Amino acid sequence: MNNYLFVILILWPCTLVAATLLNMLISQAFNWSELLFCIFAGICIGYFFMTGTEPAPHAIDQFMLIFSHGLFGLFSVAGIRDFSNRMVLYQWSALFMIAAVIITALLDRLALTIGKSMNTAGFLLSLLIFPLKAPFTLITSGVSLIIFFLFSGIWVAIFRNNTRLGFLGGTPYIEWNFGGNYSFATTLGFTVNTWKGNLSTLLGHELYHTRQYMIFRDWFIPFWLLGGIWGLITSMLSSNPFDIRYFFIAHPSKNIGNPLEQAAYHSGGTKPF
Ligand SMILES: [Zn+2]
Repeated sequence: MNNYLFVILILWPCTLVAATLLNMLISQAFNWSELLFCIFAGICIGYFFMTGTEPAPHAIDQFMLIFSHGLFGLFSVAGIRDFSNRMVLYQWSALFMIAAVIITALLDRLALTIGKSMNTAGFLLSLLIFPLKAPFTLITSGVSLIIFFLFSGIWVAIFRNNTRLGFLGGTPYIEWNFGGNYSFATTLGFTVNTWKGNLSTLLGHELYHTRQYMIFRDWFIPFWLLGGIWGLITSMLSSNPFDIRYFFIAHPSKNIGNPLEQAAYHSGGTKPF
């Protein structure tokens, strides 16, 4: 655990790849470019795993430990129990994560089977899933909860009859303007904003993203943006006509588009166009 090269270049990339393969297996989707992104995210997560657990780490390394390891990174920074011990931190941030990905992937399937619109059984199941998804993305989820839920969504849902809140798959969500045939949503950590339409048609897709966030942590957005550039390049190189939308979507069957969207489109059963 004290060998920088082993932890950064092998242990953490392999951890992310293993978790993603299990998530893909249970979600019945596969995509090699997402696995490639896991290797690079694993190197970032592994790097701050090491620098953040050195004796008396720099404030930036402490912040990046929380960015890379969520609640467990915060426990390490706060000196709670022995979370600053690399072995203990790895047990929670990696081994617990792999177990949580397997369980939530299975329970998300159950949630989708029970019902894709708000329902009591789905709400109760959500209470079980939430603690497994919540620890990994404190910053992305925290910003979304404060801006979109506390400051705006809750109040808008009370006063406007085309906005509503829900809680399925351990994921608090807002439907800002429900109804109609077209839906468009963004997953931010363990929260989902449905900007237009009903979440029900996108629920499988967005829940796949919530599990990706457990694996990529707060690195998901930087890598998703990088994936957008990759998406444009694959569109340019493909025999299909170039489409700028491949920055944020993926082809339903071909390897064209954002790598972090490809398996999500295949597993969620949604067609981008
Ligand atoms: Zn998506």
